[in-house]
Amino acid sequence: MRKKIVAGNWKMNNNKEETAQLIAALKAKGSFAGVEVKVAPTSIHLVQAVDALIDSAIEVIGQNMHQATNGAYTGEISASMLQSIGVNSVILGHSERRAYFNETDEALAEKVATAVKHDMEVVFCFGEELADRQNEQHFKVVEEQLSKALFSLPNTAWGKIVLAYEPVWAIGTGETASPEQAQEMHAFIRGLVAQQYDASVAENVAILYGGSVKSANAQEIFSKPDVDGGLIGGAALNADDFFAIVQSI
Ligand code: PEP
Repeated sequence: MRKKIVAGNWKMNNNKEETAQLIAALKAKGSFAGVEVKVAPTSIHLVQAVDALIDSAIEVIGQNMHQATNGAYTGEISASMLQSIGVNSVILGHSERRAYFNETDEALAEKVATAVKHDMEVVFCFGEELADRQNEQHFKVVEEQLSKALFSLPNTAWGKIVLAYEPVWAIGTGETASPEQAQEMHAFIRGLVAQQYDASVAENVAILYGGSVKSANAQEIFSKPDVDGGLIGGAALNADDFFAIVQSI
């Protein structure tokens, strides 16, 4: 059976004290049966978060990582740096990284390959912009993103890949894809993976939905057969809201 996953992307939010408070509030919620829960604090709070969550089922993951092993890349973080502090999973390809930091599909292919080489899990984000959907190009755009960044990976790498379909028009906008739109795209994505690899790889890969998921809409979206959980932005900054979303799965 495929994993169910809910991951919170805290982006560039929360200072040290606020990070500690959010973690304490999440820990107080108790256990999360049947679902993998992950949180992605900003990089300078990763060590603190790993330490605070050491005895908890909540996994700490990175928001980004550089493709090079090491070297003169001021401000960047490598796979082995993440691993050295106990972070073994990383979000790659978030639309904000693509839009504001010029991350291309080609660069993302390198990042994914580096993460896989280090045996790290990758939560790979992709999704169309509003104009793509309005022009009915959304399937084509998603196929291209996946093909360029992921489809050179060997079958064996797919055990470490989590897909996160995040239509850009739904991120932080309050506008969510309808459960039917999410299911349609997730089924399409699973079909692409089956075509490129095989039925078993496609059946086993978790495909998360991201884009204005809230406690009020999570259950309906998560009820769709090809939606295996969510990548949550804004609502992940509040422990009650995030826990309610986790419980919706
Ligand atoms: C995100 O940034 O990945 C995201 C889904 O954000 P939000 O939930 O705020 O739309």
